[in-house]
Amino acid sequence: MAESEEIVVRCRCGQRLFDFDPMTKGIITTKCPRCKAVMAVSIMNRKIKCTEQIAAHAG
Ligand SMILES: [Zn+2]
Repeated sequence: MAESEEIVVRCRCGQRLFDFDPMTKGIITTKCPRCKAVMAVSIMNRKIKCTEQIAAHAG
């Protein structure tokens, strides 16, 4: 039985954004449903780097 190695990606506010398979590579851009921050998550060699994207403030 294979051990699950899914990695949970969380926003800076703690909101769970998604989890990904360790084999995944690339950059995923997602928007946090809680604080509306747009996060670019780059996945390289099973390491996550989250970068908050600069977004225009609405209102
Ligand atoms: Zn957030």
